[in-house]
Amino acid sequence: MHNSVQSLISIQKEISNNNSNANIIAVSKTFPIDKITPLIKHGHVHFGENKVQEAVQKWSEVKKTNNNIKLHLIGKLQTNKVKFVLPLFDYIHSLDSIKLAEKISIEQKKKEFKPKIFIQVNIGNENQKNGVSINELESFYKECKKNYNLDIIGLMCIPPIDNTSKFFSKMLELNNLLNLSDLSMGMSSDYLEALNFKATFVRIGSLIFGERI
Ligand SMILES: *Cc1c(COP(=O)(O)O)cnc(C)c1O
Repeated sequence: MHNSVQSLISIQKEISNNNSNANIIAVSKTFPIDKITPLIKHGHVHFGENKVQEAVQKWSEVKKTNNNIKLHLIGKLQTNKVKFVLPLFDYIHSLDSIKLAEKISIEQKKKEFKPKIFIQVNIGNENQKNGVSINELESFYKECKKNYNLDIIGLMCIPPIDNTSKFFSKMLELNNLLNLSDLSMGMSSDYLEALNFKATFVRIGSLIFGERI
């Protein structure tokens, strides 16, 4: 049987062997709460979901009784869902439009809760992927800070599958350029590579929970 706690511990070991103290976001999307409970009992803090409605159903109660848990939204956020996202999610990794920035800004004021936010970058300039383009990134960031009072802590990417190192390296360069502290990149297949480029949050699903159905 697949043991999620053992998997988590060995990933943690790999991370420290690489002289990194990156946080592991256990990506629990599609898995029911009983598959997640062992990790919660183990004391794991960071969990990731990609669908707002699924997260509301799975986590609303669990988070109330485990208030050290930090929940990360790693999937596309529609502007009409922002009201459900705060204050359930502590981190949003998918800020990709000014419309969304504006909506989050209004909602964080209303709820008196400021989530930590990553700007998603379309680092490989791929049509099918979300994210701000490299060319627009700097002005996008400045506008979010100046007009919308968002707590932007870093950049996030889902790179093309080929030549990931090149894209992770570019992400680090952009993060430094904007003087941001955090970098959300690396998944089950490429998290070790992401550590080489100073990822501070790796998002790991299948390597912890097993294959999704
Ligand atoms: C599902 C998902 C992950 C985790 O993927 P694995 O390959 O299972 O580790 C990471 N990031 C995002 C944005 C995802 O949607």
